[in-house]
Amino acid sequence: SNFCKLIPKIELHAHLNGSLNEDILKQLGCDETSISEYQKLTEILNKTSRNLDECFHLFPIAHNATKTKEKLYMATKSVIKDFKKDNTIYLELRTTPRSEEDMSKEEYIETVVKCINDCKSKYKILVKLILSINRRQDDNNAEESLKIIIKMKEKYPDIIKGIDLSGDPKVGTFNENLFEKARIAGLKTSIHCAEVKNNEEVKKILDFGPDRLGHAVCLHPAYEGSQENWDLYLQKKIPIECCLTSNVICGTVERYEEHHIQELINLRLPFSICTDDKGVFRTNSSKEYEHVMKHFKISPTDLYQFNYNSVEQSFASDEEKKRLIHVLNKVLYLFL
Ligand code: IMP
Repeated sequence: SNFCKLIPKIELHAHLNGSLNEDILKQLGCDETSISEYQKLTEILNKTSRNLDECFHLFPIAHNATKTKEKLYMATKSVIKDFKKDNTIYLELRTTPRSEEDMSKEEYIETVVKCINDCKSKYKILVKLILSINRRQDDNNAEESLKIIIKMKEKYPDIIKGIDLSGDPKVGTFNENLFEKARIAGLKTSIHCAEVKNNEEVKKILDFGPDRLGHAVCLHPAYEGSQENWDLYLQKKIPIECCLTSNVICGTVERYEEHHIQELINLRLPFSICTDDKGVFRTNSSKEYEHVMKHFKISPTDLYQFNYNSVEQSFASDEEKKRLIHVLNKVLYLFL
């Protein structure tokens, strides 16, 4: 509906390279075949057999398109513009620093930060950066990334706010020592958790107690052996970043109506509504808000209220949170 499009929105879980739309991929030199791969993935939305691997093989297409500083800069700018156009007022973008032929991990981060800074005055949207560690990185490589991330965070404390663990959930594991170091260095933590069933790892993540959890699909006691983790989660009440379309397309959730966000709504647990990879999954924030409204019969007032909760869960400063709440309050009368 128009309501979801027009209201100011908060986005807390968006992967930069997964957020590139077809137009920008073309501008970055992507061929037609690669672009039509994106199209195909959404076409399988209504089929019964879907899997994560089909989704994960699309990321290299975007990665190939952002191998230079210029292209990475263009890509970042396009994503910020897209969210702005969709009336997002606060965006936490996340990305995995890569070293490429003519770009170090440090330069990768510098490029994204520069773009965020350049966009600040041009587009009225507040953008923060979360830097990701990929589950495929071995301990040494992850440590190397962390060192650079901490150094960059000290240089750009207003932009770089947190660290994330993401990538193929079937590969690698959560290294609590690494994330403890990040926490001590003052980085907020958002960890992809329980995208696939892995009770042992989920327990480790919950014990660590990140600031937020990504997805948290297989945490619910409906999944075998997860009652203990669910109880632990209920004690901690860690906010969950919900990405409905992503979960349905990847097949980790069968249908929108079965998404665990329903349970979180019923139990008044903290969550936010997120896109994950708006390019790969051909979605955007308003579509995700719409899915929540439609499939769980949420009133406009309640949906608007979810936004305030997301501000609270964000990694923005207290002053920035106040300003965001002020914006939400200021335009409230237009919608409700
Ligand atoms: P990037 O970090 O900007 O390169 O964004 C793409 C990357 O985000 C992918 O290569 C994955 O590592 C990660 N990613 C995107 N979506 C998901 C997801 O649903 N689960 C886990 N990791 C993801």
